[in-house]
Amino acid sequence: MRGLRPVVGIVLPALFFASACLNTAPAQVKADLILTNGAVYTMDASRRWAEAVAVAGGKIVWVGDEADTVRLRSDSTRVIDLGGRMVLPAFQDSHIHLVSGGIDLGQCILNDLKSRDEVYARIREYAARNPGKDWIVGRGWELPLFPAANPSKEDLDRLVPDRPALMTAADGHSAWVNSRALAVAGITRATPDPKDGRIERDPRTGEPSGTLREGAADLVERHIPEPTAEDYLEGLRKGMALANRFGITAIIDASVDDNILKAYRELDRRNELTVRVLATLEVDPARDVGQLPSLIDKRRMAPGRRLKATAVKIFADGVLESGTAALLEPYLNRPGDRGPTDLEPGLFNRLAVALDKEGFQIHIHAIGDRAIRMSLDALEAARLANGPRDARHQIAHLELIDPLDIVRFRPLGVVANFQALWAWPDPYITDLTLPVLGPARSRWLYPIGSIVRTGAVVAGGSDWPVSSMNPLEAVQVGITRVEPGVANSPAWIPEERTDLATMLAAYTINGAYLSREENLRGSIEPRKAADLVVLDRNLFDGPPAQIHAAHVVRVFLDGMEIYADEGVKGPASWSP
Ligand SMILES: [Zn+2]
Repeated sequence: MRGLRPVVGIVLPALFFASACLNTAPAQVKADLILTNGAVYTMDASRRWAEAVAVAGGKIVWVGDEADTVRLRSDSTRVIDLGGRMVLPAFQDSHIHLVSGGIDLGQCILNDLKSRDEVYARIREYAARNPGKDWIVGRGWELPLFPAANPSKEDLDRLVPDRPALMTAADGHSAWVNSRALAVAGITRATPDPKDGRIERDPRTGEPSGTLREGAADLVERHIPEPTAEDYLEGLRKGMALANRFGITAIIDASVDDNILKAYRELDRRNELTVRVLATLEVDPARDVGQLPSLIDKRRMAPGRRLKATAVKIFADGVLESGTAALLEPYLNRPGDRGPTDLEPGLFNRLAVALDKEGFQIHIHAIGDRAIRMSLDALEAARLANGPRDARHQIAHLELIDPLDIVRFRPLGVVANFQALWAWPDPYITDLTLPVLGPARSRWLYPIGSIVRTGAVVAGGSDWPVSSMNPLEAVQVGITRVEPGVANSPAWIPEERTDLATMLAAYTINGAYLSREENLRGSIEPRKAADLVVLDRNLFDGPPAQIHAAHVVRVFLDGMEIYADEGVKGPASWSP
């Protein structure tokens, strides 16, 4: 309930009236689709349960007991007996890179590989399978697999000796390149670090060692051939198909450039979008407030059937693991170094005030406690300058929040967008973060429970392709804070656990709120769009540690079935 304060007044009465209304209406609405015999978690303001849902014209027309569905049936009504399975509002991923991730699916994918040898084997095999590619490009290697998160050009030279190669890390903030790639970019011992990045070097010789941090990767990336317009469309199609399989029918694309926006507009024009899209337009700090007219232009051109571009993205800092997140106190392994910010507080405030005034929703990447404080300060400056308004700005990632800032989200109306899947003690935390922050600060890594307890609105996203798109994995870790699928493993700061209802709200109604569509969707109530997901089991019945094992059986968008796993027969049992 806490998280839903902004929408309570709107959604509360609907369920009471709908049933009575249809019972007495002489000209009966006949349903196109009826889902019966289910465990329907409506996600309405009272979190009510129902047995059946009826849909007509893409909208939910009725929610309630099974017996009442009889009068809504006609000969043409499709009736699906759910056999006790669970129905939820379809999921929203509120921080995802759907098009770029979809394009990456055609690259050398290194995500989830558990050893260096597996990474080497995958790259060698990919290069052999793609003899026609001028560049070997991949992504997804995990930083902890390499000493000091610092893979070498020699290793990549052995795997790809004949062409330039660039492998982006799973978090997107480091790149591993071979000697050919360094040569193409003209990077030598004499090349200085760019302002916004670092060229890792051999400490003895000063030679570039093969890992490039942050902006230093651009020095090489700019030489990789650009994907074509068709590549963008194909990437979007691949990303959407994957999203639908996970029960996702709405997204916030967290970083949309002109090519990506073009792809969204094109598929929306062709009626091929199977997700609702809030596109977040990239803000270039170097262009200051002078870029507002062009952002306003893009926003004006975007709206379509399932697309809008009313949000803007600002990066406040980098990531903790490579020392580029902005901290209030120095990194323990870098005396005096508190990490850089992507923009000065003065510029940040100026941009926030101007963007807020124009009605943009500001979506901030902030990871370190200094970056998060600076972000809250900028959004506070906007509120002071322009007056309080229904702004729905958000900060995403929120890895290290200073306890003093936890209470600021709710009064400022800032939505906290967590990637809850990251909140278990994986090597990113235990090997790369805990040692450089120390235990006292690390207590405040991913303080989801504390933010929930303040009553702030909490939303969720995967940051895919950074990590798995499956919302159920993130929901599970938000509740358990232990590694999914591993019995008896330790929890990361168990005090910061939250509950299932809260996590499901983060991926449904609170996402809809963040996209300003909570009156249209996000809960299962009459007059809302029939965006629904059917799961093979009731998540409330089994152990939280098994939530990730639940399967998506059917997905509906505007009442249309866009995914069905016909292989799933009966409801799954919870036995391991
Ligand atoms: Zn992101």
